[in-house]
Amino acid sequence: MGFVPISIDKYIKKHLDSNRSENEKDLRKRLNSALTDYKNGVKCSCGNDIWVIGSASVGNSCFTCITGESQPNNDCEIDSATVKSGNKKGQRHIDDIDPTKIAGFFDDDGNEINTDLIRKPGLCMTCVNDNDPNEELLCNMTRYDQKDDTDFKCFAYKKNNS
Ligand SMILES: [Zn+2]
Repeated sequence: MGFVPISIDKYIKKHLDSNRSENEKDLRKRLNSALTDYKNGVKCSCGNDIWVIGSASVGNSCFTCITGESQPNNDCEIDSATVKSGNKKGQRHIDDIDPTKIAGFFDDDGNEINTDLIRKPGLCMTCVNDNDPNEELLCNMTRYDQKDDTDFKCFAYKKNNS
């Protein structure tokens, strides 16, 4: 589920077809203004991204605050507002994830990091924290932070003597 992307021109035509009293110029102006706000990172008062189409009618707010529905269901959104800039293919963005289901960790842009793809340095194999589920998140963060470094350093390293 999610928004159905629609171009601004298509949406205006659709909207005008069902709202005969609407002024095309005025509608376009309000849509562009909401879209600009969206791209500038303007958020709803609740913290969510604004829903451009709804915001053009009622002022900047997110889909949930405007409609009372938790998720869009065949609702349209201007296409350029459905693509998150910098969102890498196959990665989930923190904003797209149900807040109660957020686990794992995210890079500075909010993209989820697949911990399976993080290289495990040889040092970790001899560490007491290796395979300790309580340490795994911290270990992965340490590894991820140094993924581009040639030397791996870890302050939590303790040699496993067993
Ligand atoms: Zn909201």
